[in-house]
Amino acid sequence: MELNAKVYVAGGQTLIGAAILRRLERAGYVNIVGKADEEPPPSDPAQVEAFFARTNPAYVFLVSGDSGGIAANQKYPAQLMLDNLLTECIVIDNAHRYGVKKLLYLASSCVYPRNCPQPMSEGWLLTGPLEPTNEAYALAKLAGIKLCQAYNHQHGTKFISAIPANAFGPGDDFSPEDSHVIAALIRRMHEAKNGSWEAVDVWGTGSPQRDFIFVDDLADACLFIMEQYCEKQQPVNVGGGGVYSIKELAELIKRVVGYRGELRFDRTKPDGMPLKVLDSSVLNGMGWKSSTPFGTALRATYDWFLQAGQTARPANVP
Ligand code: GDP
Repeated sequence: MELNAKVYVAGGQTLIGAAILRRLERAGYVNIVGKADEEPPPSDPAQVEAFFARTNPAYVFLVSGDSGGIAANQKYPAQLMLDNLLTECIVIDNAHRYGVKKLLYLASSCVYPRNCPQPMSEGWLLTGPLEPTNEAYALAKLAGIKLCQAYNHQHGTKFISAIPANAFGPGDDFSPEDSHVIAALIRRMHEAKNGSWEAVDVWGTGSPQRDFIFVDDLADACLFIMEQYCEKQQPVNVGGGGVYSIKELAELIKRVVGYRGELRFDRTKPDGMPLKVLDSSVLNGMGWKSSTPFGTALRATYDWFLQAGQTARPANVP
């Protein structure tokens, strides 16, 4: 990807899209199209087509589509599925028709079967039933992977896919109910600290394990994959490198926020997938590894929350 190439990040205002834009700018890309207000709504076919006709991007990072935590997935399955299906169909088709050289589609680790052997390697895709709490969203993300492969097969395009671990970081959605676990617990523990609450609720049993990736590391991986990864019919995993139970995570966030009360596990709330850990050996073997220590990444996320996150509008949920 030449530094003067035209690059478009579809979903540039999402947590991950904004981090990719920061990463591209830091690397010296000078021809980024569709930033901020110039980005067409990715699920509006006419506006997206007009945008491709006008700007003719050579490289596309496709990270648009609504997303949310376990509660949002249960409340808004139709909205999450529809928005993701629309945006991937529209952006991928326009990328083909306007001759995009390479497109990177970002899926989600919920595309793997609920009872997948751990860590989950790319070959396990579509080998079993999905986790029910996010099935609609996961099916839309699987469709995106398959759509890229179908275009490659039928039209000879170079549309690749990556499957990231649970991303978090500055710019996250900190809404109390619909966010993912890290943002939710940072917010709740911060409020508990300020309000001197005796205990904080953590959803589920605390035993599920997750692979978390700091969003700036994920953005770095996206750039690396765009430049180095060429397997058109096989997505590549992007794990964060560490695996934490929700209980361990809650203890770490407690320390970062400086909350001294108790953790109370609310077993009326769902656990979701019991284990969700990516096998990143393919990407690691190519020479990429996440580099930000987990504690540093949690601290940076809390710092951002203190400065901006308390008032920011929810980033990703409907
Ligand atoms: P998931 O990976 O799709 O399940 O995404 P989440 O980030 O929403 O949830 C991860 C795990 O954290 C699940 O087991 C949740 O039950 C648990 N969890 C604990 N407290 C919370 C919370 O306040 N919000 C969310 N979203 N998850 C929580």
